[in-house]
Amino acid sequence: MSASTLDVCTFLERAADALNLNDDVREVLRHPTRSVAASINVRMGDGSLKTFSAWRTIHSNALGPAKGGIRFHPSVDADEVNTLAFLMTFKTALAGLPFGGGKGGVAVDPGLLSRHELERVARGYVRALRHDLGAGRDVPAPDVNTNGTVLAWMADELAALEGTAQTASITGKPIVLGGIAGRAEATGRGAAKVVLALTDHLKLADGATIAIQGFGNAGAQFARDMHEAGFRIVAVSDSSSAVYSPDGFDPSEAEAYKAQHRGLKGFADAVPGNDLRKLDVDILVPAALGGWIDDTNADDVAAKVVVEVSNQACTVHGADRLTERGVHVVPDILANSGGVSVSYLEWVQNRSGEQMSREKVFADLDQRMAEMATAVARRAAEDKTDLRSAAYRIAVSRIAEAIESMGTRRLFNE
Ligand code: NAD
Repeated sequence: MSASTLDVCTFLERAADALNLNDDVREVLRHPTRSVAASINVRMGDGSLKTFSAWRTIHSNALGPAKGGIRFHPSVDADEVNTLAFLMTFKTALAGLPFGGGKGGVAVDPGLLSRHELERVARGYVRALRHDLGAGRDVPAPDVNTNGTVLAWMADELAALEGTAQTASITGKPIVLGGIAGRAEATGRGAAKVVLALTDHLKLADGATIAIQGFGNAGAQFARDMHEAGFRIVAVSDSSSAVYSPDGFDPSEAEAYKAQHRGLKGFADAVPGNDLRKLDVDILVPAALGGWIDDTNADDVAAKVVVEVSNQACTVHGADRLTERGVHVVPDILANSGGVSVSYLEWVQNRSGEQMSREKVFADLDQRMAEMATAVARRAAEDKTDLRSAAYRIAVSRIAEAIESMGTRRLFNE
């Protein structure tokens, strides 16, 4: 799951070189603006006291308040949080959102906690970091192992501490508490819109075949939307099995099977060698974990296109090797930004008091994703570069403009 800060910094340095970026801007963006570590003391159900380590990082707030999820996972650490906050900075900038990048985490295995204990962790997180959170400061969202209920507890705790409603301070809430329609579909749907907008650039023909690693929230929605658009889903996997049918299948049937049998095993033939990377498909979609394609296995990838639905699905070396081999990689900061785009609409909705309909949310999301994908493809063609480099150049230029507007060395030397 973890990606290193060093890896993502490479993408910044490359964009900075290509843009001949002001040294001040480069220096600012290399480092997180603010990184806070805290300990959350929780009274457990058996009366004992347990302490959990927690982090929140604002990588940049040059374009607006920080935005990014909070994950609960035993392997979370400061480096992972910093790295994911870093990615959020470029994702929100590329999407043209008035946000910077942030991320949070608690080193905890929620599967080992009772519901009450989980609530105490969520509320403890907010108590520990209350001065850093807020609609104009830093706006958390769900991430791995955190959901609407966890975020509702957090918004409620912040409201109790501040003495005013805090709906715009936290997104991903249940709809009844100010959440937004369509958030669950946003990431998978957004990724599908990106691929559909890029069919010419990626040279995808009608009925192109797709294999998806990680048939969860984002992967399954992506599968449904691409199937509907006429693509063929031929393989999907989850943490326990990988299934394959060369003629393709309806992903809704795979979902129903998975729900009934608590897994995909038996829905179709097993993927040879259990490795989706080697399948002869047109599009390979990592939608589970980071670092799945690296320098040891990038040569195994048979697909012509990789769509990074999971963050940092390819390491720098893995991505470079794919690019050398002529494989197009649709980068995470473009492919999975549908989620944060709809979180932005939730923030707008909470600040304005308007309740947006699902239709309005999807219309905004669909247009935003298509425009963003088209702009990235255009930049890639103009600069004769790959999609990730183009995406970072657009994002870094926007952030640089904001930082330069506040005054850099050039201004002070004039
Ligand atoms: P999810 O938990 O709903 O689904 C993940 C799926 O991956 C599950 O089906 C799980 O069984 C499967 N999986 C886990 N390990 C696997 C393995 N080794 N091989 C194959 N499958 C495996 O998560 P999600 O919300 O769909 O997110 C998927 C990825 O997309 C994550 O990396 C997440 O950070 C990223 N992402 C999600 C969103 C969002 O809004 N959901 C937004 C941006 C990025």
